[in-house]
Amino acid sequence: MANVMIKCPNTGKLVPTGIAMDAQSFASAQLSNNGLGNCPACGGGHVWSKKDAQLEEE
Ligand SMILES: [Zn+2]
Repeated sequence: MANVMIKCPNTGKLVPTGIAMDAQSFASAQLSNNGLGNCPACGGGHVWSKKDAQLEEE
């Protein structure tokens, strides 16, 4: 499994979305307009789509 990460638009840091999946699932996943309510980098809320996301292996 790998963590789905997005880049915080305020700090530029990679932050975990709380979603974990393997690379095969990520490739076929429909991820659009997902909400991240409490960003660990800036404390704000972000809306993200698959194009903003990347996998980070544990
Ligand atoms: Zn943020």
